[in-house]
Amino acid sequence: MLALTFQGVETLRLVDAAEPRIEDPGDVIVRVRLAGVCGSDLHVYHGRERGLDPGTILGHEFVGEVAAVGPEVRRWKRGDAVLSPFTTSCGDCGPCRAGLTSRCERGRLFGWRENGVGLHGGQAELVRVPLADSTLVRMPRGVSSEAALFAGDVLATGYFGVDAAGVRRESTLAVVGCGPVGLMAVLTAADLGVAAIWAIDRVPERLAIAARLGATPIDLDRDDPVALARGTPIDAVVEAVGSPAAARLAFDLVRPGGTVAAVGVHTEPHFAFSPGEAYDKNLTYRAGRCPVRHYLERVLPLARRYDRELQALVSHRLPLADGIRGYELFAGRREGCTKVVLRPRPEDAG
Ligand code: NAD
Ligand code: ZN
Ligand code: ZN
Repeated sequence: MLALTFQGVETLRLVDAAEPRIEDPGDVIVRVRLAGVCGSDLHVYHGRERGLDPGTILGHEFVGEVAAVGPEVRRWKRGDAVLSPFTTSCGDCGPCRAGLTSRCERGRLFGWRENGVGLHGGQAELVRVPLADSTLVRMPRGVSSEAALFAGDVLATGYFGVDAAGVRRESTLAVVGCGPVGLMAVLTAADLGVAAIWAIDRVPERLAIAARLGATPIDLDRDDPVALARGTPIDAVVEAVGSPAAARLAFDLVRPGGTVAAVGVHTEPHFAFSPGEAYDKNLTYRAGRCPVRHYLERVLPLARRYDRELQALVSHRLPLADGIRGYELFAGRREGCTKVVLRPRPEDAG
């Protein structure tokens, strides 16, 4: 089968990979209809995040149809349309029961294999999904495949960030970074009726989307958001970048007593602010991987309501065979690239 693999920093290869097999009785094999390229894939691509085995099939955003089921699978049969969170989860361990499905004791991240252990990803014709009964979710009626794809990662993560930021309708929220995750935070906050939303980035077309979704755009190359925040106290920040500069900006923006919700994946070894600075601001800092499976019940209605807006965010729909170009466009933010969706079978609709 065709698959997009990681070979080394900024080096990907399309390969004819072995088809995944049922390995555990709770596995399902999904035939991928759509696979997204995520900002998290870029950390690996650029070599900021290390440890991934060369040869790993990339990608953790996918929707598709069940192609094969293991002997202990109860919920799924061949042909069922499903969407997947970007990690597997058992639904039964302590973290899962507490709603932290992204830290399931048996859970794994798709597209992450290290020292020969872990899961291949969804940027392929087929993907193996362990713990399928508790991981996969039925494709809801009235939701496009693209919106469902977003629900499995970036929409849920944006929602999670806003939830962690603890905003109310009267709050002022700043979103640092207007990639798909930041834009989904803007959408969620606007849906909640948050009074003032600042969207900060330096990519004009992304700022324009943020403005359409209901935020005040702030271009880092033209305005100084920290100076602006002296006149408008920022109650909370969703940091959706994952870099020291963004972390520092989030810290500098938030008012004393405010909250920074960091959903950006950080690979640097130190905080961008000191414990003393956090103390002096009475800062609340929240971070982490979105427990998508836990949030999906709340997120799928949003995917249905904002289906059109989500589809409008996809700038590039490419065959999987053009996946390397998809990474180059997304990484370089070229050709107005905001989101790349790959199709293993280009003849598939929606
Ligand atoms: P992306 O790379 O498309 O977007 C990042 C955006 O941040 C870009 O538009 C870029 O111009 C902007 N940016 C860079 N430096 C900035 C700065 N100093 N200030 C303001 N903006 C800046 O990525 P994405 O898909 O939107 O993902 C964003 C982050 O969220 C990544 O770190 C990704 O790994 C992470 N992520 C986390 C989770 C989770 O569960 N917590 C899930 C999905 C993605
Ligand atoms: Zn992701
Ligand atoms: Zn679990």
